[in-house]
Amino acid sequence: MKIHEAEARELLSRFGLPVPDGATATTPAAARAAAERLFAAGATQVVIKAQVLVGGRGKAGGVKLAASAAEAESVAAAILALTIKDLPVRRVLIAPAAEITREIYLSALIDRASRGILVMASAAGGMEIEEVAAKDPTAIVREMAHPQAGLLPFQARRLGLHIGLRGELLRQFAAIATGLVRIAREADADLVEVNPLAVVPAPEIPGGERLVCLDAKVTLDDSALDRHPDFSAWRDEESEDPIDREAREMGISYIRLDGSIGCMVNGAGLAMTTLDLVTRAGGTPANFLDIGGGARADKVAAAMRIILADAGVKAILVNIFGGITRGDEVAKGLIEARAQQERVVPMVVRIVGTNATEAATLLKAAAFETATSLDEAAEKAVALAAGGAK
Ligand code: GDP
Ligand code: MN
Repeated sequence: MKIHEAEARELLSRFGLPVPDGATATTPAAARAAAERLFAAGATQVVIKAQVLVGGRGKAGGVKLAASAAEAESVAAAILALTIKDLPVRRVLIAPAAEITREIYLSALIDRASRGILVMASAAGGMEIEEVAAKDPTAIVREMAHPQAGLLPFQARRLGLHIGLRGELLRQFAAIATGLVRIAREADADLVEVNPLAVVPAPEIPGGERLVCLDAKVTLDDSALDRHPDFSAWRDEESEDPIDREAREMGISYIRLDGSIGCMVNGAGLAMTTLDLVTRAGGTPANFLDIGGGARADKVAAAMRIILADAGVKAILVNIFGGITRGDEVAKGLIEARAQQERVVPMVVRIVGTNATEAATLLKAAAFETATSLDEAAEKAVALAAGGAK
């Protein structure tokens, strides 16, 4: 689950990281009121930022400064009218503008290749890290956090030293880097990215400079959300794909792929095997879909709607191994789903295990194409998707 910058800032500040003050608004008038409060508290300029779940908002005109509350109102109105990378801006963040001396990049993310938390830093902050990686890969320095102990102090300092920080700034940087890894571990975040981590003037402290997290991008691990009930309020349902939402609400694991064979399977392992066999039979899977154990007719019907919402689906392969799941329930669900179906797509069904005989009787009466082995089912589905004979 991606969360907006405003919520990501809230998360960072819960972990004690330096984040500017700020408020969100969904109307220009509310943005003006928020700006008035910030000016009254001593801000000389405010920044108004589009809250959309994509990066590159600055370049798209979604990050603007304002020197008065009236200007904040008109800037907010302009930003609230934008659509950035297909996402309408529904909310803005208003914060005191920082006077930026330098922009640093810092992130902590789950790195599947090394099975750990990777911390990356670069002195070339502000631009997107992919751009830095393409232009000058040596400008990015990396450390792997210890799986139990997190980022060790010497690692945090080494990162900072390598991007040219010394003294007080280095000390602050090490604390922030360590904090990002703590967030990844303790909040179950897959990605915590601060870009820019800005160097700003701070005449009140030794060294005269400090670091502040001016942007924050956080992705939380969906599978760990049950451990953090308070994060559920951070989900932006409006920005979520309606199909992903229906799947989540029905307890169906669904991942869209780009092939032509829709797959409905029970069990994650069997679903992955099904994708492999479709591929081996020369087809391309349109999705991963696990309806879960004990699925009843209504869940099967929902799974069918989800699969058919993808216009690329040319055939459907249903592969059910009945254990807790009863084959006849699935068959009933399929018959019901087909009756409601808006788009007719050829389907091949393989149901084995619990109540497979009852399922076969039902499917036969309803004239469904069936298969007994998974290989046979995969081959039939590939032929159906290609428009071939049954
Ligand atoms: P992104 O483009 O979606 O990554 O949004 P950012 O929050 O990173 O903002 C983009 C750019 O706007 C930053 O790299 C900064 O250069 C600039 N910016 C953001 N916040 C401030 C601010 O408080 N003061 C100033 N002067 N510039 C800012
Ligand atoms: Mn940014």
